Amino acid sequence: MHDNKRQIPDFFPESAAIITTYKCTAHCKDCCFDCSPQESDTLTLEEIKLFIDEISKMNSIKSIVWTGGECSTLGKKLSEGIAYAKSKGKVSRIVSNASWSKGIEKDKKYLSKLKENGLIEINVSTGDNHQQFVPIEKVLSVIEAAVSIGLRALISIEKTKFSKFTIETLKANSTYKRIKKNDKEGLLSILSASWVSFNNDSSYEYDEESFIEKKDGCNSLYNTIALSPEKDVLSCCGITVRYIPEMTLGKLSQDSVTVSEMYNRQKFDFMKQWLFAEGPLDILSQVFEWDNTIKIPKFVHPCQACAYIFQSPEIIKVIENNYTSILESVTKKFYQKINFKSTFREKLNAQVDLES
Ligand code: SF4
Ligand code: SF4
Repeated sequence: MHDNKRQIPDFFPESAAIITTYKCTAHCKDCCFDCSPQESDTLTLEEIKLFIDEISKMNSIKSIVWTGGECSTLGKKLSEGIAYAKSKGKVSRIVSNASWSKGIEKDKKYLSKLKENGLIEINVSTGDNHQQFVPIEKVLSVIEAAVSIGLRALISIEKTKFSKFTIETLKANSTYKRIKKNDKEGLLSILSASWVSFNNDSSYEYDEESFIEKKDGCNSLYNTIALSPEKDVLSCCGITVRYIPEMTLGKLSQDSVTVSEMYNRQKFDFMKQWLFAEGPLDILSQVFEWDNTIKIPKFVHPCQACAYIFQSPEIIKVIENNYTSILESVTKKFYQKINFKSTFREKLNAQVDLES
């Protein structure tokens, strides 16, 4: 599609995500990356360091999310990678399933080492599918350990209409209640996130309130840059990114295009500008306005809608045939959002400078 080449203000991503491996200690039904103990794709420490070196050339990135698969399967490489990120001025957050828990004291020791190296937050996922592999006791042991050593902690719970384990189940758990009571600094938070299937042979039902309606543009695009276990540099870390080839910017390599160059090239991509400015649901509404024979299902996650757009040749054709009519207005919104974010960041940085 036509590249929208105009003078674009200088802007860079604020965070990075390292999808360290597709190997996982669990094999949850409908995992978005289809991770399992049998998967072996894993980044080496050298590749991780190369990516950190590359993103460090863009001074804007302050934090890294380490995810997977199960990032703890990296063993010492995880701790060393987090320490390397810290040496480059970046703090870290990990996303885990807590399968590595060996009881509160050992969990504290493990997390203390990561904290010393630069970890500031841990997110643990749980719910009906996760608990087939990792009991809630392990999740709560890790969370209690994290909070007791001063780490921010988040429990993310799978949600469908018929989920057995819910936020209410968690809130009624006596260990959870104790952790919450002792959490004087308010480090622990919980959320429920719609559990989505990408396989045709399996689907879930949702409460009406779970279906998303029009939203702002995508805030991951242009804000996050990610690395996959196959060494692909990605435009975002959305749950469907593996299903959208357009989100792959290139291969991480010492000898070819830099990550910063890859990032800059996509600034001229009209579809990404549109996703960033208005989001996939607004794009689908516009497509329907152009051609009301196009079927638009309901979605519980914006990345599902995004994948639906890119995987539908019919929708892409409608966009190709009509996009010039909205090019000007989308470009304007794209600039407005970029400028708003830049101004906001400058103000925030100025405030931090004053306070430090
Ligand atoms: S724990 Fe997470 S990464 Fe592992 S299989 Fe389950 S959903 Fe996938
Ligand atoms: S909506 Fe699309 S661009 Fe945004 S995070 Fe999801 S997959 Fe990535």
